[in-house]
Amino acid sequence: MRLAARQIDCGRKVGIVASSDDLDVQPETPLLKDLEEGPWPSFVKEIKSAAETNGMSADLLQQLELSYKEKQGHWKHGGIVGVRGYGGGVIGRYSDLPEKFPEVRHFHTLRVNQPAGWFYSSDAIRTICDIWERHGSGLTNMHGATGDIILLGTTTEELEPAFNELTAAGFDLGGSGSAMRTPSCCVGEGRCEWSCYDTMKLSYDLTQAYQDEMHRPAFPYKFKIKCSGCPNDCVASIARSDLAVIGTWKDEIQQDDEAVAEYAASGVDIQRDVCDHCPTRAMSWDGRHLTIRNEDCVRCMHCINVLHKALRPGKEQGAVILVGAKAPIVQGALLASVLVPFVRKEELLDTLKELLSRIWDFWGEYGNNRERVGEMIQRLGLANFLDGIGLDPVPQMVSEPRDNPYIYAHDIGGAK
Ligand code: SF4
Repeated sequence: MRLAARQIDCGRKVGIVASSDDLDVQPETPLLKDLEEGPWPSFVKEIKSAAETNGMSADLLQQLELSYKEKQGHWKHGGIVGVRGYGGGVIGRYSDLPEKFPEVRHFHTLRVNQPAGWFYSSDAIRTICDIWERHGSGLTNMHGATGDIILLGTTTEELEPAFNELTAAGFDLGGSGSAMRTPSCCVGEGRCEWSCYDTMKLSYDLTQAYQDEMHRPAFPYKFKIKCSGCPNDCVASIARSDLAVIGTWKDEIQQDDEAVAEYAASGVDIQRDVCDHCPTRAMSWDGRHLTIRNEDCVRCMHCINVLHKALRPGKEQGAVILVGAKAPIVQGALLASVLVPFVRKEELLDTLKELLSRIWDFWGEYGNNRERVGEMIQRLGLANFLDGIGLDPVPQMVSEPRDNPYIYAHDIGGAK
């Protein structure tokens, strides 16, 4: 027997507590039980907990159990559903068994723009959760793959009231559909000593600058921007964003020889654990002194990660801008390619704005429907793309040296 508050009319407020008679009747979901086992957190446990006070969560459990039993999903996606003035931020979802599971007849998702670096006060989190318990299933996903706060499950009627309360509390919706998606960033200078620029500020500034592009979908497909403070790339921007901004430095790695000696004295095998893992063999260790040939360093961060008290990124800091990554949806996964090898941190925002306007112009003109920027570059060729956005090719765009002996790159007596 289901725990759903049967007396609730779907058109009315969601999140109403089931009658006290029903509360002690646990829904039977034998197939979902396996997902509660083990030491890791279980979404089934969380939905069950929410189902004690919310009819939507109770029907959600039952529909999910049925899907496992029949090996078939019961969600319908699509259709236009949203809040006034916005073209995105709401993902419509409906049950294809509305008579059987009326509480999840509508189960729309709200995408809420997360604070840069995912910093919250407890008050802010309580406010979001309270709003969602009043207007939705009470279930959240902190956070979605793009970075937004994901509020799972509400009815069409509750979208506008939920949105009004969220905006009154200082929150706004994020991007969805063929639009610029909510920019995201690592914590950067908020907590990390290696950050080569202020990722949170850049992410915030980009979010403010492109509200229209985020809330009113007008692109061929989605466009994601992610900002990482150093090449450790904690938000995996190189694999997950159409435009990746990754902090780096131009000068020499800062080195504290005394601290290196302390590492060696404490038993760290500098040769084995540091030098032998340098991808370009840019380091050598003679048993007393560590030498870094900075001209060969590719800023991978390995040595800095291991000897973090002795080595630091250089002082001339900024970021590399890359383009074209995506996850495997539609076509296969792509990693990003270097577009601008180094931009000083003071010039990052202006450079990005100029670059974005050129990329979006070109993509809007030549991109196919549901074609990501990276896929378009693959189809048209990097040379054509660079030509189209007015950038000259540079050696850093080449992933490996040429191996064709019949093509010459050097000047031979006036002929090329
Ligand atoms: Fe080598 Fe990477 Fe250290 Fe550069 S950052 S010296 S490439 S290990």
